[in-house]
Amino acid sequence: MTVDSSIRLLNVDDNEDDAHLLRRHLKKSELSVHFEWVDDETSFLEQLVKGDWDLIISDYSMPSFNGLRVLELVKEHRPEIPVIIMSGAVGEELAVETMRSGARDFILKNSRSRLVPAIIREITEARSRLEKRKAENALDKQHTILRLSHEAARVGSWGYDPNTQQLLCSQSMKTLCGYQDRNGNATLDDFVQIIHQEDRERFSSTLELSISEKLPFIIKHRVKTGGGKLKWFESRAHYHPEEDGEARIIGISIDITELVDGMSALRTAKEKAEESDHLKSAFLANISHELRTPLNAIIGLANLLKDDVSDELESMKWAAVIHDNGKHLLDLINDIVDSAKIESGEIKAEIQQFELPSLLEQIRDSFSTDTKLQTLEGLNLEIPPRDTKRFFVCTDHRRLRQILLNLIRNAIKFTDEGEIRFGYRVQEPEHIQFFVTDSGIGIPKEKQKIIFERFRQVDQSMSRGFQGAGLGLSISRGLTELLGGDLEVESESGKGSSFYFTLPCLATKENSIEAQRD
Ligand code: ADP
Repeated sequence: MTVDSSIRLLNVDDNEDDAHLLRRHLKKSELSVHFEWVDDETSFLEQLVKGDWDLIISDYSMPSFNGLRVLELVKEHRPEIPVIIMSGAVGEELAVETMRSGARDFILKNSRSRLVPAIIREITEARSRLEKRKAENALDKQHTILRLSHEAARVGSWGYDPNTQQLLCSQSMKTLCGYQDRNGNATLDDFVQIIHQEDRERFSSTLELSISEKLPFIIKHRVKTGGGKLKWFESRAHYHPEEDGEARIIGISIDITELVDGMSALRTAKEKAEESDHLKSAFLANISHELRTPLNAIIGLANLLKDDVSDELESMKWAAVIHDNGKHLLDLINDIVDSAKIESGEIKAEIQQFELPSLLEQIRDSFSTDTKLQTLEGLNLEIPPRDTKRFFVCTDHRRLRQILLNLIRNAIKFTDEGEIRFGYRVQEPEHIQFFVTDSGIGIPKEKQKIIFERFRQVDQSMSRGFQGAGLGLSISRGLTELLGGDLEVESESGKGSSFYFTLPCLATKENSIEAQRD
């Protein structure tokens, strides 16, 4: 055995003659040696860290330090460099001690014949150790790249041995399942246990079929991860006969949760788009109906008036119908404008102080001529009896009135018997809850959310038999929010509805500026 390239050798010896002898001995051998000599700890350490040494040959006993210290420093700074200890002193114990401390060989200075073969052996072994380490490092690197790319692609791989029932999982598979800290192999049963209950049976029978028929398979299933999350996996596997006659199922599982979620979001978006398309058509039909009905009445009756005003009583009736229809049209246009303003955030609250019971009375009185309330016997519009003390609040008078009017109009529209009550309750601290309650047709549970959206109605069909563009509640909710509250509903089909909202109104009794003045 020879060493074909030049050997870089560091010699540690306090005796220059010994160093010289060693250099000559090596020069005479078949080895090509680059020889460097140091004689104390400082220069040894300096050379050790900066040089690219293949081998260190050190004297055992030196005045300032010894072979054991050399071994210690090598272990600390360059553990890959082999060290041979050379000593003038004979002693088995010494040899054992140095070998235990990491020396690769112990040679007596007077038996140099062993030296060259020992050098060749050490250099060869060190180089093969280096090659092995390089190969191991390269393999580690490949494993790391594979694991990281698997993790990035959210893929885990596994192998199942039907004979032993053992399931060999890659680290990325364990990570995917949220069991990255679990050591050792799992059984198939362990894996089946974390599959979602509804998918378990399908997974097991697919795997069994693949084993018995030697077939590949692809299956989508859910897994409950160690962290408690539910993930969607697509597992693909195939039957793989091994050289020893045994067989394995080799597979990968891909985390497709995002894909599945994305698909379901897409499906919901599509359904929503279809629904909003449908709603758009219904809205257009409804709005054009709402506009056309009063307009037809106005044009028709105005035509009659134009041609014949002989019957004064009849003419007055027509004029009143024209007025009502004109007002209805104006209300509708106002609603559309308000709704657009709320949407664009253009409406600002104008907070002022006013007496609340008076507002309620004014509102009630404005319905005194309401035809439905007048014609339907027993249908009453009630407000709580007035307190003897005057009661002041601070909010936007006009917008509060608008909200209550909207809610009461709806209550009247959707109630044929019983009563409609509206009013307020003081809630601490400084909040007032307003309510409008009716005993009308009520609102089904599943519609109680959507009725607050623009143009939405419980019955979206043209044949519903109620007027309205579907804007009142969305405007009322927008205005309530503007005043610092939230409009809510409690209702039961056929039994009536209760709309209520709470405003931070700073309720005061008789201690307002106005009251103090009285
Ligand atoms: P509109 O009354 O013009 O249709 P709204 O936005 O005021 O529009 O109301 C939306 C829908 O909510 C109504 O069409 C009706 O279906 C339902 N709704 C509102 N208030 C009541 C109520 N008091 N009783 C029963 N249904 C109601």
